[in-house]
Amino acid sequence: MSHVFPRHSKSTLLTATGGDGCYLIDSTGRRILDCGDAAVSCLGHSNARVIKAVQDQVAKIAFAHTGFMTSEPAEALADLLIEKAPGDLDRVYFVSGGSEATEAAIKLARQYYLETGQPERRRVIARKQSYHGNTLGALSAGGNAWRRTQFAPLLIEMTHIAPCYEYAEKPEGESAHAYGQRVANELEEEILRLGPETVMAFMAEPVVGATLGAVTAVDGYYKRIREICDQYGVLLILDEVMCGMGRTGHLFACDYDGIAPDILCIAKGLGAGYQPIGAMLCTRHIYDSIAQGSGFFQHGHTYVGHPVATAAALAVVQELTEHDLPTRAGVMGDRLQSALELAFGQHPHIGDIRGRGLFRGLEIVASRETKAPFDPSLGLAGKIKKLALENGLICYPMSGTRDGKNGDHILLAPPFIIEDAQIDELVEKLSKTLKTVIPEST
Ligand code: PLP
Repeated sequence: MSHVFPRHSKSTLLTATGGDGCYLIDSTGRRILDCGDAAVSCLGHSNARVIKAVQDQVAKIAFAHTGFMTSEPAEALADLLIEKAPGDLDRVYFVSGGSEATEAAIKLARQYYLETGQPERRRVIARKQSYHGNTLGALSAGGNAWRRTQFAPLLIEMTHIAPCYEYAEKPEGESAHAYGQRVANELEEEILRLGPETVMAFMAEPVVGATLGAVTAVDGYYKRIREICDQYGVLLILDEVMCGMGRTGHLFACDYDGIAPDILCIAKGLGAGYQPIGAMLCTRHIYDSIAQGSGFFQHGHTYVGHPVATAAALAVVQELTEHDLPTRAGVMGDRLQSALELAFGQHPHIGDIRGRGLFRGLEIVASRETKAPFDPSLGLAGKIKKLALENGLICYPMSGTRDGKNGDHILLAPPFIIEDAQIDELVEKLSKTLKTVIPEST
C-alpha cells in the first residue's frame, strides 16, 4: 500500500521511472509521449546541460539561506532574465513555483502602495475563468469557480472581469478588435466602480492555460489594458507561469502583445521540471520604492533563490536563448496547429483549435453551431485524460463546464524539442482517444 497522498485517491497512478526526450517511461518500460501534464517540460526529460548543472551545483553547495548569502547561479540567472525581460523589469525574486510567484506579486503590490503613501490601495482585479495558483491569495485571484467554491469562506475579496475569449464570447457581427477593446474597457469600468484610489493591481494570464486551454487575447487587448492601468496608477501583474519561457514562441508571452507589465510571474518552463522554481520580476521603480523606503520586502520562504534550483534554471534559460528555442516553439507550434486542423478541423465536436507556439488548445462542444458544451455529467475531460494515457499520451484535458458555461478543453504543451514524427504521433493518439470517448467522432 502506498503512503503517498495522491490528488485522486480513487485511481491508481503509474510509476514514472525514466525520461527520454519527449517521453516519460513507466515502471513497465512503456514510453509515454509527454505533451504537457501542466506545460512544464520545455526541454524534454534528458537535457544533458541541465542535468550536469544540477549535479555540479549540488556537489558544490546544496543550500545557503538568502537571508545571509546569495549564490553565483542565482545572480547569473537574475542577470540573464533581466537582460531578456521586456520593459523596465529590473529585479528578480526567486520562489519555488507558480503559486508562490503570484502570492509574492500580490504582496509586493500591496507593499509598494504602502511605501509610496497610498495605503487605501488594496484591491486586486483579476479575470473570470483564470487560474493563478492554489495557495489562498493566488486562489482568491483566480476566477475558476470549481477551484474556488469550497474554499470561498477563506478567500480574500477580489473582483473578476470577463476574460478575452473570442471563440466563446464575441458576439457575431462585432469585429475582433472592437470586442477586444470592449472587454478591456471592463477593467476601466471595474476600477471606476471600486474607486481608483482603492485598486492596487490587475492580474491576468497573457494566454490562458489551466482553465480554458490556450486562449489568446485578440490583438490590441493588452495594449488597452496597459493604457488603463497607467491611467489609474494600477499595477499590471502578468502571470506567465504557464505560458512564459518560450512556450508561445516568445521568451515572454507578453512580447507578442508589445507591452510590459510592472510585475511578471514565471515558473514551470523556468525550471523545465528539473527543479521546482518560479520567479517574480518587478520594475526598477517598484524595487526602488521599497529599497529607498523601509528597505525590507515583508515576505520570504526558506527556499527562496535555492542554489540548485537556480543553477538548473540558469542552464534552462541558457539552452532556451542560445539555441533560440522559443522561435522553434513558434515554428513547431504552427505545424502542430496545421496537423490538428487537418485531423479535427471538420470534427463535429471540436469547436475551436487555437493557441500560440507550442501552447495549443481544442475546445470540445456538443454542437458546433451553438457552441453548447456536452453535459458535464459525462465527465469527458476525465475520460480523455485516462484513455489518452492508456494510449501512451499525456495531455491536459479540463472541464470548462465546471464554470457552468463552456465546453471541455484539451491543452497540448509538448517540449520545444518535439519533431515532426512526434507531432504525427500526438495527433494519432489523440484521434484514437477521441474516437472512443466521443462516440460520434469521425
Ligand atoms: N499561474 C498559472 C497561470 C498556472 O497555470 C499555475 C499552475 O498551473 C499557477 C499559477 C500555479 O503554479 P504552481 O502549480 O507551480 O503553484
